[in-house]
Amino acid sequence: MDETGRAIIARVEAEVVAIKHVTPHMQRITVGGAALESFLRTDGVETPAAWVKVFLPSGEGRAYTIRQINKEQQTLDLDFVLHHKEESYSPASSWAFQAQKGERITLAGPRAGSFALPEDAAWVILAGDVTALPAIQNIAANLPPTIRARVYVEIPTHEDQQEIRSPAVLSVVWLEPRERPGLALEQRVLYRPFPLGPGYVWVAGESRIAKELRAHYLRERYLERHRVTTEGYWKVGKADHREG
Ligand SMILES: Cc1cc2nc3c(=O)[nH]c(=O)nc-3n(C[C@H](O)[C@H](O)[C@H](O)COP(=O)(O)OP(=O)(O)OC[C@H]3O[C@@H](n4cnc5c(N)ncnc54)[C@H](O)[C@@H]3O)c2cc1C
Repeated sequence: MDETGRAIIARVEAEVVAIKHVTPHMQRITVGGAALESFLRTDGVETPAAWVKVFLPSGEGRAYTIRQINKEQQTLDLDFVLHHKEESYSPASSWAFQAQKGERITLAGPRAGSFALPEDAAWVILAGDVTALPAIQNIAANLPPTIRARVYVEIPTHEDQQEIRSPAVLSVVWLEPRERPGLALEQRVLYRPFPLGPGYVWVAGESRIAKELRAHYLRERYLERHRVTTEGYWKVGKADHREG
Protein backbone atom coordinates (compact mmCIF):
# COMPACT_ATOMS: atom_id res chain seq x y z
CA MET A 1 0.00 0.00 0.00
CA ASP A 2 1.14 3.57 -0.55
CA GLU A 3 0.73 6.38 2.02
CA THR A 4 -2.84 7.09 0.80
CA GLY A 5 -3.90 3.51 1.46
CA ARG A 6 -4.28 2.60 -2.22
CA ALA A 7 -2.73 -0.60 -3.52
CA ILE A 8 0.44 0.19 -5.43
CA ILE A 9 -0.01 -0.45 -9.12
CA ALA A 10 2.70 -2.66 -10.50
CA ARG A 11 3.45 -3.30 -14.15
CA VAL A 12 4.72 -6.76 -14.90
CA GLU A 13 5.60 -8.69 -18.00
CA ALA A 14 3.77 -11.98 -18.26
CA GLU A 15 3.78 -14.83 -20.72
CA VAL A 16 0.85 -16.74 -22.14
CA VAL A 17 1.24 -20.27 -20.75
CA ALA A 18 -2.12 -21.84 -21.66
CA ILE A 19 -5.18 -21.11 -23.79
CA LYS A 20 -8.54 -22.76 -23.26
CA HIS A 21 -11.74 -22.38 -25.20
CA VAL A 22 -14.15 -22.37 -22.24
CA THR A 23 -17.41 -21.77 -24.16
CA PRO A 24 -18.14 -20.52 -27.70
CA HIS A 25 -17.70 -16.88 -26.63
CA MET A 26 -15.17 -17.21 -23.80
CA GLN A 27 -11.44 -17.79 -24.20
CA ARG A 28 -9.33 -18.40 -21.10
CA ILE A 29 -5.79 -17.07 -21.28
CA THR A 30 -3.53 -18.28 -18.48
CA VAL A 31 -0.52 -16.04 -17.91
CA GLY A 32 2.55 -16.79 -15.84
CA GLY A 33 6.19 -15.96 -15.40
CA ALA A 34 8.62 -15.14 -12.60
CA ALA A 35 7.52 -11.50 -12.50
CA LEU A 36 4.04 -12.53 -11.34
CA GLU A 37 5.27 -13.71 -7.93
CA SER A 38 5.12 -10.31 -6.20
CA PHE A 39 2.06 -9.29 -8.26
CA LEU A 40 0.13 -12.25 -6.85
CA ARG A 41 0.98 -11.14 -3.29
CA THR A 42 -0.34 -7.58 -3.78
CA ASP A 43 -3.19 -6.35 -1.52
CA GLY A 44 -6.57 -6.70 -3.16
CA VAL A 45 -5.57 -9.33 -5.70
CA GLU A 46 -7.83 -11.92 -4.09
CA THR A 47 -10.86 -9.70 -3.51
CA PRO A 48 -13.86 -10.93 -5.53
CA ALA A 49 -14.00 -9.18 -8.92
CA ALA A 50 -10.40 -7.91 -8.67
CA TRP A 51 -9.08 -6.94 -12.07
CA VAL A 52 -6.00 -6.04 -14.05
CA LYS A 53 -5.23 -3.87 -17.03
CA VAL A 54 -3.95 -6.05 -19.82
CA PHE A 55 -1.60 -4.34 -22.27
CA LEU A 56 -1.71 -6.26 -25.52
CA PRO A 57 1.30 -6.65 -27.83
CA SER A 58 -0.14 -3.66 -29.77
CA GLY A 59 0.28 -1.52 -26.61
CA GLU A 60 -3.46 -1.02 -26.05
CA GLY A 61 -4.78 -1.65 -22.53
CA ARG A 62 -8.13 -3.15 -21.47
CA ALA A 63 -9.57 -4.18 -18.08
CA TYR A 64 -10.03 -7.89 -17.29
CA THR A 65 -11.19 -9.67 -14.17
CA ILE A 66 -8.80 -12.06 -12.47
CA ARG A 67 -10.84 -15.22 -12.85
CA GLN A 68 -8.51 -17.54 -10.93
CA ILE A 69 -5.12 -17.46 -9.29
CA ASN A 70 -2.84 -20.46 -8.98
CA LYS A 71 -0.22 -19.50 -6.40
CA GLU A 72 1.75 -22.73 -6.72
CA GLN A 73 2.16 -22.36 -10.46
CA GLN A 74 2.30 -18.56 -10.19
CA THR A 75 -0.30 -18.10 -12.87
CA LEU A 76 -3.55 -16.26 -13.26
CA ASP A 77 -6.49 -16.89 -15.55
CA LEU A 78 -8.19 -14.15 -17.54
CA ASP A 79 -11.45 -14.97 -19.33
CA PHE A 80 -11.84 -12.92 -22.52
CA VAL A 81 -15.26 -12.57 -24.12
CA LEU A 82 -14.94 -13.19 -27.86
CA HIS A 83 -17.32 -10.50 -29.03
CA HIS A 84 -15.60 -9.84 -32.35
CA LYS A 85 -14.26 -13.18 -33.40
CA GLU A 86 -13.56 -12.42 -37.04
CA GLU A 87 -13.10 -8.66 -37.13
CA SER A 88 -9.88 -6.91 -36.33
CA TYR A 89 -11.11 -3.62 -34.83
CA SER A 90 -11.55 -4.90 -31.31
CA PRO A 91 -8.01 -5.32 -30.02
CA ALA A 92 -8.54 -7.41 -26.86
CA SER A 93 -11.19 -9.78 -28.13
CA SER A 94 -9.35 -10.36 -31.41
CA TRP A 95 -6.05 -10.86 -29.63
CA ALA A 96 -7.52 -13.46 -27.27
CA PHE A 97 -9.05 -15.30 -30.22
CA GLN A 98 -5.64 -15.68 -31.88
CA ALA A 99 -3.28 -15.71 -28.86
CA GLN A 100 -0.39 -18.17 -28.91
CA LYS A 101 1.52 -19.78 -26.08
CA GLY A 102 4.76 -17.94 -25.37
CA GLU A 103 3.40 -14.50 -26.34
CA ARG A 104 4.25 -11.73 -23.90
CA ILE A 105 1.83 -9.17 -22.50
CA THR A 106 2.09 -6.55 -19.77
CA LEU A 107 -0.27 -6.47 -16.80
CA ALA A 108 -0.90 -3.42 -14.63
CA GLY A 109 -2.61 -3.64 -11.26
CA PRO A 110 -4.09 -5.49 -9.57
CA ARG A 111 -7.12 -3.45 -8.59
CA ALA A 112 -9.52 -4.59 -5.85
CA GLY A 113 -13.03 -5.54 -6.92
CA SER A 114 -16.06 -3.31 -6.36
CA PHE A 115 -18.18 -5.91 -4.55
CA ALA A 116 -18.91 -4.52 -1.08
CA LEU A 117 -21.45 -6.68 0.77
CA PRO A 118 -23.04 -4.86 3.74
CA GLU A 119 -22.68 -6.89 6.95
CA ASP A 120 -26.42 -7.14 7.51
CA ALA A 121 -27.27 -8.39 4.01
CA ALA A 122 -29.64 -11.38 3.98
CA TRP A 123 -29.76 -11.52 0.20
CA VAL A 124 -27.77 -10.44 -2.80
CA ILE A 125 -28.62 -9.93 -6.46
CA LEU A 126 -25.77 -10.40 -8.95
CA ALA A 127 -26.63 -9.29 -12.47
CA GLY A 128 -24.56 -8.80 -15.56
CA ASP A 129 -23.72 -9.75 -19.09
CA VAL A 130 -21.10 -12.27 -20.13
CA THR A 131 -18.23 -9.81 -19.43
CA ALA A 132 -19.33 -9.88 -15.79
CA LEU A 133 -19.52 -13.67 -15.60
CA PRO A 134 -15.91 -14.14 -14.37
CA ALA A 135 -16.56 -11.58 -11.61
CA ILE A 136 -19.92 -13.14 -10.73
CA GLN A 137 -18.28 -16.57 -10.47
CA ASN A 138 -15.66 -15.17 -8.09
CA ILE A 139 -18.15 -13.24 -6.03
CA ALA A 140 -20.50 -16.23 -5.75
CA ALA A 141 -17.65 -18.49 -4.63
CA ASN A 142 -16.85 -16.08 -1.80
CA LEU A 143 -20.36 -15.49 -0.43
CA PRO A 144 -21.23 -16.55 3.10
CA PRO A 145 -23.35 -19.75 3.31
CA THR A 146 -26.09 -17.88 5.18
CA ILE A 147 -27.00 -15.58 2.29
CA ARG A 148 -29.56 -16.03 -0.49
CA ALA A 149 -28.14 -15.12 -3.88
CA ARG A 150 -30.04 -14.53 -7.10
CA VAL A 151 -27.89 -14.47 -10.21
CA TYR A 152 -28.95 -13.15 -13.63
CA VAL A 153 -26.52 -13.42 -16.53
CA GLU A 154 -27.14 -12.46 -20.15
CA ILE A 155 -25.10 -14.72 -22.43
CA PRO A 156 -24.73 -14.77 -26.24
CA THR A 157 -25.98 -18.39 -26.61
CA HIS A 158 -27.18 -21.09 -24.23
CA GLU A 159 -23.84 -22.86 -24.79
CA ASP A 160 -22.14 -19.99 -22.97
CA GLN A 161 -23.55 -21.11 -19.63
CA GLN A 162 -20.91 -22.00 -17.05
CA GLU A 163 -20.94 -23.51 -13.62
CA ILE A 164 -21.35 -20.98 -10.80
CA ARG A 165 -20.22 -22.50 -7.51
CA SER A 166 -21.20 -20.97 -4.20
CA PRO A 167 -21.64 -21.88 -0.55
CA ALA A 168 -24.69 -19.56 -0.57
CA VAL A 169 -28.27 -20.53 -1.38
CA LEU A 170 -28.05 -19.76 -5.08
CA SER A 171 -30.55 -19.44 -7.91
CA VAL A 172 -29.25 -18.74 -11.41
CA VAL A 173 -31.18 -17.41 -14.41
CA TRP A 174 -29.50 -17.44 -17.84
CA LEU A 175 -30.86 -14.94 -20.35
CA GLU A 176 -30.35 -14.84 -24.08
CA PRO A 177 -29.98 -11.48 -25.83
CA ARG A 178 -32.83 -9.49 -27.31
CA GLU A 179 -32.80 -6.46 -29.67
CA ARG A 180 -29.92 -4.68 -27.91
CA PRO A 181 -27.25 -5.77 -25.43
CA GLY A 182 -28.52 -5.88 -21.88
CA LEU A 183 -32.21 -5.50 -22.71
CA ALA A 184 -33.09 -9.07 -21.72
CA LEU A 185 -31.27 -8.61 -18.42
CA GLU A 186 -32.87 -5.27 -17.70
CA GLN A 187 -36.38 -6.50 -18.46
CA ARG A 188 -35.89 -9.54 -16.25
CA VAL A 189 -34.67 -7.72 -13.14
CA LEU A 190 -36.69 -4.48 -13.25
CA TYR A 191 -39.40 -4.38 -10.58
CA ARG A 192 -38.75 -7.94 -9.41
CA PRO A 193 -39.71 -8.20 -5.75
CA PHE A 194 -36.77 -8.36 -3.35
CA PRO A 195 -36.42 -11.25 -0.89
CA LEU A 196 -37.18 -10.38 2.74
CA GLY A 197 -34.71 -8.40 4.82
CA PRO A 198 -31.84 -6.07 3.94
CA GLY A 199 -29.87 -6.87 0.83
CA TYR A 200 -27.34 -5.78 -1.76
CA VAL A 201 -27.32 -5.49 -5.56
CA TRP A 202 -24.21 -5.79 -7.76
CA VAL A 203 -24.54 -5.14 -11.48
CA ALA A 204 -21.88 -5.02 -14.22
CA GLY A 205 -22.02 -4.99 -17.99
CA GLU A 206 -22.92 -2.56 -20.75
CA SER A 207 -22.65 1.02 -19.48
CA ARG A 208 -26.11 2.28 -20.36
CA ILE A 209 -27.80 -0.76 -18.82
CA ALA A 210 -25.69 -0.45 -15.67
CA LYS A 211 -26.68 3.24 -15.34
CA GLU A 212 -30.37 2.52 -15.93
CA LEU A 213 -30.38 -0.24 -13.33
CA ARG A 214 -28.57 2.01 -10.84
CA ALA A 215 -31.23 4.70 -11.27
CA HIS A 216 -33.95 2.07 -10.91
CA TYR A 217 -32.61 0.63 -7.66
CA LEU A 218 -31.86 4.01 -6.07
CA ARG A 219 -34.81 6.11 -7.26
CA GLU A 220 -37.60 3.63 -7.84
CA ARG A 221 -36.78 0.92 -5.30
CA TYR A 222 -35.31 3.26 -2.66
CA LEU A 223 -32.27 1.14 -1.89
CA GLU A 224 -29.62 3.03 0.08
CA ARG A 225 -26.44 3.84 -1.85
CA HIS A 226 -24.29 1.34 0.01
CA ARG A 227 -26.68 -1.40 -1.10
CA VAL A 228 -26.12 -0.84 -4.82
CA THR A 229 -22.93 -1.19 -6.89
CA THR A 230 -23.12 -0.84 -10.65
CA GLU A 231 -20.26 -0.89 -13.12
CA GLY A 232 -20.17 -0.08 -16.83
CA TYR A 233 -17.67 -2.64 -18.09
CA TRP A 234 -18.01 -1.56 -21.74
CA LYS A 235 -20.12 0.76 -23.87
CA VAL A 236 -21.89 0.11 -27.17
CA GLY A 237 -20.03 1.86 -30.00
CA LYS A 238 -17.08 3.03 -27.87
CA ALA A 239 -13.63 1.47 -27.80
CA ASP A 240 -11.73 1.35 -24.50
CA HIS A 241 -14.66 2.70 -22.49
CA ARG A 242 -13.86 3.99 -18.99
CA GLU A 243 -16.45 5.14 -16.52
CA GLY A 244 -16.00 8.81 -15.59
C1 LIG B 1 -13.30 -3.82 -14.02
C2 LIG B 1 -13.58 -4.48 -15.36
C3 LIG B 1 -13.51 -5.86 -15.49
C4 LIG B 1 -13.75 -6.47 -16.71
N1 LIG B 1 -13.66 -7.83 -16.82
C5 LIG B 1 -13.83 -8.43 -18.02
C6 LIG B 1 -13.65 -9.86 -18.16
O1 LIG B 1 -13.29 -10.56 -17.23
N2 LIG B 1 -13.85 -10.39 -19.41
C7 LIG B 1 -14.22 -9.62 -20.50
O2 LIG B 1 -14.36 -10.16 -21.59
N3 LIG B 1 -14.41 -8.28 -20.38
C8 LIG B 1 -14.21 -7.68 -19.18
N4 LIG B 1 -14.36 -6.32 -19.07
C9 LIG B 1 -14.83 -5.57 -20.26
C10 LIG B 1 -13.72 -5.30 -21.28
O3 LIG B 1 -12.70 -4.51 -20.67
C11 LIG B 1 -14.35 -4.54 -22.47
O4 LIG B 1 -15.33 -5.31 -23.11
C12 LIG B 1 -13.34 -4.04 -23.49
O5 LIG B 1 -13.92 -2.97 -24.20
C13 LIG B 1 -12.90 -5.11 -24.48
O6 LIG B 1 -11.90 -4.55 -25.31
P1 LIG B 1 -11.87 -4.81 -26.88
O7 LIG B 1 -10.52 -4.36 -27.32
O8 LIG B 1 -12.31 -6.20 -27.18
O9 LIG B 1 -12.99 -3.81 -27.46
P2 LIG B 1 -12.88 -2.21 -27.59
O10 LIG B 1 -11.76 -1.82 -28.50
O11 LIG B 1 -12.87 -1.61 -26.23
O12 LIG B 1 -14.26 -1.86 -28.32
C14 LIG B 1 -14.43 -2.07 -29.76
C15 LIG B 1 -15.93 -2.17 -30.05
O13 LIG B 1 -16.42 -3.34 -29.43
C16 LIG B 1 -17.51 -3.05 -28.58
N5 LIG B 1 -17.42 -3.93 -27.38
C17 LIG B 1 -16.51 -3.90 -26.36
N6 LIG B 1 -16.75 -4.90 -25.49
C18 LIG B 1 -17.82 -5.57 -25.97
C19 LIG B 1 -18.53 -6.71 -25.53
N7 LIG B 1 -18.20 -7.38 -24.44
N8 LIG B 1 -19.58 -7.13 -26.28
C20 LIG B 1 -19.96 -6.49 -27.44
N9 LIG B 1 -19.30 -5.40 -27.91
C21 LIG B 1 -18.26 -4.96 -27.19
C22 LIG B 1 -17.36 -1.57 -28.22
O14 LIG B 1 -18.62 -0.99 -28.00
C23 LIG B 1 -16.74 -1.01 -29.49
O15 LIG B 1 -17.72 -0.69 -30.43
C24 LIG B 1 -14.11 -5.69 -17.85
C25 LIG B 1 -14.18 -4.28 -17.72
C26 LIG B 1 -13.93 -3.69 -16.50
C27 LIG B 1 -13.99 -2.17 -16.37
